[in-house]
Amino acid sequence: MIPGQFDYVRPGSLGETLQILKDREGEAKLLSGGYSLIPLIKLRLAQPALLVDLRDVSGLDGIAETDDFLVIGARATHRQIHENGIVQARYPGIVDLAGVIGDPQVRNWGTIGGSVAHADPASDWPALLLATGATIVCTSQTGERTIAAREFFLDTFTTAIEPTEVLTQIRIPRRPKQAGGAYEKLERKIGDFATVGVAVMVRLDATGTITSVGIGVTGVAETPFAATDGEAVLAGNAPSDALFRQAGAAVAAQSRPGGDVRGPVEYKRAMAAEMTLRALRTAVQRALAYA
Ligand SMILES: Cc1cc2nc3c(=O)[nH]c(=O)nc-3n(C[C@H](O)[C@H](O)[C@H](O)COP(=O)(O)OP(=O)(O)OC[C@H]3O[C@@H](n4cnc5c(N)ncnc54)[C@H](O)[C@@H]3O)c2cc1C
Repeated sequence: MIPGQFDYVRPGSLGETLQILKDREGEAKLLSGGYSLIPLIKLRLAQPALLVDLRDVSGLDGIAETDDFLVIGARATHRQIHENGIVQARYPGIVDLAGVIGDPQVRNWGTIGGSVAHADPASDWPALLLATGATIVCTSQTGERTIAAREFFLDTFTTAIEPTEVLTQIRIPRRPKQAGGAYEKLERKIGDFATVGVAVMVRLDATGTITSVGIGVTGVAETPFAATDGEAVLAGNAPSDALFRQAGAAVAAQSRPGGDVRGPVEYKRAMAAEMTLRALRTAVQRALAYA
């Protein structure tokens, strides 16, 4: 199909971008990697009057650790994040995830900001942001706004971003000692979206008890969600396979999958439980090794 007509601009700064979004409120769409937006435009499922290409806007693509956060710029590609030295050294759950998004071409072009703003119900990043208690930074002409991941994903392809805002950064809490994360994705074949994906972040105390835990789940509801029932099963308890299975059952019960080409409802629920078990096993091992 041939896309509808649209104007195209390539602003040179964030300030210029924000002015365009204000002037053309509701008509403009930001273009980052284009790996979700361009197919939608080609199918005429999206028909923006104006495309605002972010490629010349500097300051949106760094990856750095501060005292409190791992800060990832919105235009960092999946590949840049996967290959980043800090991420490789200290954030194995992010390494798990960034390496299984789509195929190499998708990872070369697709960006974390585009993925999070797009909010596909089966996209991978939201699960991790929910598990780690990340915040999403959105910038408009009136300044910066930080939104907790748990308040950001409102519905299918719907987030808390306003039309006059640019998603500028993702802030993931810095990994403390005795904490570990993991991401388990079930996909039908390499390059596919998740049938189900489960991200967990576990923190242990000196006795090995789970002091805090986050679980983010994708692919099995109308939007990625925090599996609060599974978290409640785990917090304050000693890790064990029996406990992880109980948490997995709670995650499965909280999920709301639809039956489709990736499988029927009961299969997806069973896989949500299994991916939770696997992610928890790995995360706890990593937490024990990060003393
Ligand atoms: C074949 C294929 C396989 C894929 N497999 C997977 C997969 O396994 N897992 C997965 O998670 N994803 C997958 N994707 C999606 C891919 O990760 C996309 O890169 C991602 O969803 C969108 O990122 P983008 O940078 O391409 O954003 P774009 O397509 O440029 O934009 C997507 C949306 O976000 C908005 N947007 C972009 N940047 C910003 C910003 N900074 N602030 C506010 N709004 C913004 C745009 O206006 C648009 O609405 C796949 C895509 C393809 C084509």
